[in-house]
Amino acid sequence: DLSTYHAEPDLLKNRVILVTGAGDGIGRAAALAFAKHGATVLLLGRTLSKLEAVYDEIEKQGGAQPALLPLNLATAKLDDYLSIQRTIDEEIGRLDGILHNAAILGPLTPLQMYDPTIWDDVMNTNLRAPFQLTQALLPTLRKSDDASVIFTSSSVGRTVKAFWGAYAISKQGIEGLSHLFADELANTSNIRFNCLNPGATRTQMRASAYPSENPNTLPKPEDIMASYLYLIGPDSKGVTGQSLDVPRAEWSKD
Ligand code: NDP
Repeated sequence: DLSTYHAEPDLLKNRVILVTGAGDGIGRAAALAFAKHGATVLLLGRTLSKLEAVYDEIEKQGGAQPALLPLNLATAKLDDYLSIQRTIDEEIGRLDGILHNAAILGPLTPLQMYDPTIWDDVMNTNLRAPFQLTQALLPTLRKSDDASVIFTSSSVGRTVKAFWGAYAISKQGIEGLSHLFADELANTSNIRFNCLNPGATRTQMRASAYPSENPNTLPKPEDIMASYLYLIGPDSKGVTGQSLDVPRAEWSKD
């Protein structure tokens, strides 16, 4: 039961976990939480200075030395993904999980007026990148005894909502992508694939989507980490192809 889950301090000891969008918001909190629970984290994002700040925080909290993987997922090409795979293989030697967290909101606007170029940016960042990064890293993940891949969904990934445009479609796609990977690799591998919807969380993206909302009514990213720890770590072994929501109780009990 996710609402009562409590992660052991050394839950992720000896594990290597890649987090996309690790410089800010939920991804930053996840990188810090994974490192605090013993993981070596690989910090992927588009703004190097933000990744460096997270790197410093992890060092300060006594975590294992992280790695920096600066990459713009909106424009990344096959070579970029292959070079990340080579770097991980050669310099780190293993990978036990990926949190696909990076995403952009794009404009909230009727489809009739949606700019197709921006549509491509949103789809590339939110859907193509998680597909292509997972594809490139499968050979490395296969070598792990117990690997977990988390895709980040949203309420509009389950049911579309007017004006949410490419963001909604990208999250619908993420749900399908996660199920498809889980289905294809169900019996042949040690890798599990699940979708997690964080629910309304106090970040830049949420503030852009709901500018008139009082952010203080929302949980902070660090308040919702139990679900992320559960899904990325060994306690969710055997769970695959699921679409889960962060329980709101996780926040209200703090
Ligand atoms: P933020 O906007 O706060 O953070 C998004 C992160 O993704 C940033 O670190 C950003 O980097 C990075 N990113 C964006 N575009 C790219 C790119 N092209 N290449 C590399 N990195 C990129 O968002 P949240 O933390 O709120 O969202 C995290 C995830 O949770 C997303 O998948 C979102 O859809 C999902 N979600 C969030 C909800 C919420 O209420 N907050 C609700 C439901 C789902 P940079 O900082 O450098 O721009």
